[in-house]
Amino acid sequence: MFPVSRPRRLRSSEKIRDLVSETSLDTKKLIMPVFVDETARKPVPIPSMPGIARQTPDSLAGHLGELDEAGVSSILLFGIPGRKDDKGTSAHQENGVVQESIRIARKETSQIVIADLCMCEYTSHGHCGVLHGEEVDNDSTLESYGKIALSYAKAGVHMVAPSGMMDGQVGFIRETLDGSGYQNVPIMAYSAKYASAMYGPFRNAADSTPSFGDRRAYQMDPRNSREAMLEIAHDLNEGADIIMVKPALPYLDIINKARESFDAPIAAYSVSGEYTMLKMAVDNGYLAPSAIEESITSIFRAGADMVITYFAEYLCEKSRK
Ligand SMILES: [Zn+2]
Repeated sequence: MFPVSRPRRLRSSEKIRDLVSETSLDTKKLIMPVFVDETARKPVPIPSMPGIARQTPDSLAGHLGELDEAGVSSILLFGIPGRKDDKGTSAHQENGVVQESIRIARKETSQIVIADLCMCEYTSHGHCGVLHGEEVDNDSTLESYGKIALSYAKAGVHMVAPSGMMDGQVGFIRETLDGSGYQNVPIMAYSAKYASAMYGPFRNAADSTPSFGDRRAYQMDPRNSREAMLEIAHDLNEGADIIMVKPALPYLDIINKARESFDAPIAAYSVSGEYTMLKMAVDNGYLAPSAIEESITSIFRAGADMVITYFAEYLCEKSRK
């Protein structure tokens, strides 16, 4: 108690503050999302995400080289295909946009290549699976997810990240991969993925807005927290290697609760809306740039082991200066 206890003693200089700091922003723990658009001729800036562009299959190698140079050690790939149909078949083509991007990334860089695994960018209706009437049919969608996982593994992906929120998706993908000799490809499971308005700018980027309805019939209700623990427990039982909470900043309590409940590595996805809010406020001078570090650090402080963020390149670059 005061006057014996004076917490200010340990705040008196930068060096002391560093010494007693509990969390650090380790750039090796940042994952940069990368969009590859098969229909584009040159990189297309995404208006709703200033500073971020969709790459083309031809510009990808150069972009990855830049990320390498900045010190980005992991990427998360998303594809925008040239062809969409109601069953999203271009998602599991051997020479599909993500499959080719995986090959390019594996050849050109030493980055950890993680690929998002879903169908919303590939279906003409924009939903994350195969429709039965107006509903996404869970079990037939799993068959497609298995095919996608296998095609990614064949292309040389380091890790698959199923994001569709179908029940049983992790177990089905695990079984499919193991059955074909890919038992060493880890699964990063989007375990607690909320039906969030924060994905808005990404939909712009990935061209994946559903043509009817929304995703609330499969993504989680933002009002729920215990349900997230249930989802995570399911995924771990099914063989997930890394669990994920998405979005991050409005869901720090979920990350923290997951940290306290589970020992598996936790990834947090700081989504496009979080990026755009901070980026635009900083670009306009309304917030100091340190708001970016503060926000990403808060995600680690909450308990995340790794953070997927569109600021990965910026933060890596900054730490090198
Ligand atoms: Zn999806």
